[in-house]
Amino acid sequence: MPKPMAPKVVEALGGDAGLVKLWESADPDAELARVAPEVGALAVGGHVKVDGAFMARFPKLEIVSSFGVGYDSIDAAWAGERGLLVTNTPGVLDDEVADTAMGLVLATVRQFPAAERHLRAGRWLDGAFPLSHTLRGRTLGILGLGRIGKAIAHRAEAFGLAIAYHGRRPQDGVPFRYHATALELAENCDILVVITPGGAETHHLVDAAVLKALGPSGILINVARGSVVDEAALIAALQSKTILGAGLDVFAEEPKVPQALLDLDHVVLLPHVGSASHHTRDAMGQLVVDNIRSWRAGAPPLTPVVETPWRGAYKGS
Ligand code: NDP
Repeated sequence: MPKPMAPKVVEALGGDAGLVKLWESADPDAELARVAPEVGALAVGGHVKVDGAFMARFPKLEIVSSFGVGYDSIDAAWAGERGLLVTNTPGVLDDEVADTAMGLVLATVRQFPAAERHLRAGRWLDGAFPLSHTLRGRTLGILGLGRIGKAIAHRAEAFGLAIAYHGRRPQDGVPFRYHATALELAENCDILVVITPGGAETHHLVDAAVLKALGPSGILINVARGSVVDEAALIAALQSKTILGAGLDVFAEEPKVPQALLDLDHVVLLPHVGSASHHTRDAMGQLVVDNIRSWRAGAPPLTPVVETPWRGAYKGS
């Protein structure tokens, strides 16, 4: 384990023989060099960069068990080409992240954080908070209608919102209107919720043109990865009122948030808390542990990523 993970994960894996807590070492580089020849599994948090050069340091490596559903910090294609497994923690966080997305939608459209700031600053005594915008009669566009995107759609339907989506292809059995590009989706919705994976393929999928298409009454919500939205273009669009507002859980260079965003009142900013409840983080941690335990038992992984399918045996067997 290169960096500390949730205490329950450390505790659960620490009960098995041979957990190396690299961050506890006085000299992590020397410790890494000492243990690398024997390491068969890595347990990593979502922000630990695991590229080919790092994995190549472990000749007996068979599995990288990662915390979180997004794994854009891991070179899974490199691992797949070499018969290594990468596992993530899908499914168990869908409802939590969808709740976060809807919370951001409501907070941004109805301007609840600004209203609370108004109250706390004692300004209510001077006058009512200005009227807000509304969800009534709006269309929600979902960029990335996957597991979490569908959980968002389920909630949005209950709010009476019309729903449209974009992905690389239309999906069978989905009742929502499909748009072939992100631009076309933005042209045809009022609130654009971004919930694709991060990584090279989706880099700046939401750019200045998409924001312009969203328009002056449009709202952008990003619960995916900061890399999916061109942050400089977003700041420019917010400053020039090209769009109405934004609700963001993720940023280009976390944990740094541009001062230009902090200075704007018509954005709602969260510190990447999409899945961050005790309940859901425990479930994610348990999947990290169970994937490592399956490897120890020589059993198939529970949740391998698509780039590293289970081929019936571990690399070293
Ligand atoms: P899924 O793989 O189930 O869904 C991803 C969706 O994105 C699919 O519908 C896919 O559709 C679409 N997609 C993928 N690539 C592209 C592309 N290039 N252009 C357009 N659409 C694309 O993932 P999850 O729903 O489980 O998770 C989605 C992401 O949410 C994670 O990868 C992670 O980055 C982020 N996340 C953020 C959290 C937070 O704390 N804020 C917490 C958890 C996840 P298709 O294949 O048809 O293109």
